[in-house]
Amino acid sequence: MSKITNLRDVFVEQLKDLYNAEQQLVKALPKMAKAATSPDLAQGFEEHLEQTKGHVNRLEEIFKKLEEKPTGKKCKAMEGLIKEGSETIEEDASDAAKDAMLIAAAQRVEHYEIAGYGSVKTYADLLGESEASELLAETLQEEKDTDEKLTEAAGTINAEADEEGEEEKEKASPSRRR
Ligand code: FE
Ligand code: FE
Repeated sequence: MSKITNLRDVFVEQLKDLYNAEQQLVKALPKMAKAATSPDLAQGFEEHLEQTKGHVNRLEEIFKKLEEKPTGKKCKAMEGLIKEGSETIEEDASDAAKDAMLIAAAQRVEHYEIAGYGSVKTYADLLGESEASELLAETLQEEKDTDEKLTEAAGTINAEADEEGEEEKEKASPSRRR
């Protein structure tokens, strides 16, 4: 790979990383949806899958405009986040506990993306790439919205997981029932 000597090179490198990250996510999100017990959570993952395909398309559009190729980089961070997500999927856990863990994994992914898109949007602005900046801002907003929806979903699901825990305790020692 050629030497990175200016902000435009940095911009392209970071975009390649995001492009690969989004592609990995397109493959991972259906598995997250399948693993979710809550229909709302599963639907949320499905919806974000559709958005994520749009993120891939937006990046392709930007690469076209920049006359650069999007390929050639592997996002090791996303690979790791998805690996952790797969561990969660395979975990022996009650329904709500599993959903709570899926949300935690998904929010790590969203925060990673938010950081990445924040950086490239800043570069695009500095470089005067206004079209790219607008496209990146749209994706950034969708990532933030998704993160917020996950926080909302966690509100209910974490409470359910907590209740499941109480029920387990009561089953274990019924004499301690209040
Ligand atoms: Fe995305
Ligand atoms: Fe995302």
